[in-house]
Amino acid sequence: MAAVILPPELMRSREAERLTDEARRLLTFLVSLLPDLNPNEPRTCVRYKEAHDKLQLRQKGTTYGESLKKQGLAALADWTAATGKPAITGMIVDGTSLMPAKGYYKPFGRSVDDFEWWRDQLRRSKEFDWAPYLPFSIEGTPTPIATDIEEPAAQRVETRVYRVLRDTELALRVKKAHNYECQICGQTIVLKDGTRYAEAHHIRPLGRPHDGPDAQENILCLCPNHHVELDYGVRAIAREELRVVEGHNVGTKYLKYHNDHIAANGS
Ligand SMILES: [Zn+2]
Repeated sequence: MAAVILPPELMRSREAERLTDEARRLLTFLVSLLPDLNPNEPRTCVRYKEAHDKLQLRQKGTTYGESLKKQGLAALADWTAATGKPAITGMIVDGTSLMPAKGYYKPFGRSVDDFEWWRDQLRRSKEFDWAPYLPFSIEGTPTPIATDIEEPAAQRVETRVYRVLRDTELALRVKKAHNYECQICGQTIVLKDGTRYAEAHHIRPLGRPHDGPDAQENILCLCPNHHVELDYGVRAIAREELRVVEGHNVGTKYLKYHNDHIAANGS
């Protein structure tokens, strides 16, 4: 893969070479759509609103484009430009023109009518191996939603989700209590060195806007698949389906919170 050569005035700072969490989430989302992308068919790109909705972002700005820019889009563009990756942010297009916004070309020092370059970047994005830069995979088929970059972002329930990869002490205790077996399916992952692997999930997520507590009653021990399903709200949880062990009680109110606020608003 040839590096993008930038004129000196457009050289990115070292900071831009760091992929932020928000940018990584956006990248993961875009990469999940690459198999369906046809660089010669802009309808196979993703709309600003669609990306905003699918990522369950908070509204930060008067338009979806602006809001996305503040929540990973600008950082991802800067990172691809600074590190010479294909300009994958061109997969996000205006719902009416089916083209990227003018700002797309800027970090790469391209003029706003360089459509050949854009299509070439989409082709390169499809061929490029993004796996080393992705934290996890996301599933699901996107539903195209016709919209426009200038369309105001509607008020919506904030259900921004993150997988908390760093466990709290309590989370570790819960995983040990379950011997690293998923509370939904019973599966565990045995690593090469014989240790067992599972993930801890805070049912009512920590941090804004959910402000769930780091309490044992709010934690589940899950396999990665079920963890992602709950994070993305694609399934509800019934108390009866949960495997239980002595010393770890799951709070009914947290299950209800998940079912009412996270699964209900999930895609
Ligand atoms: Zn599972």
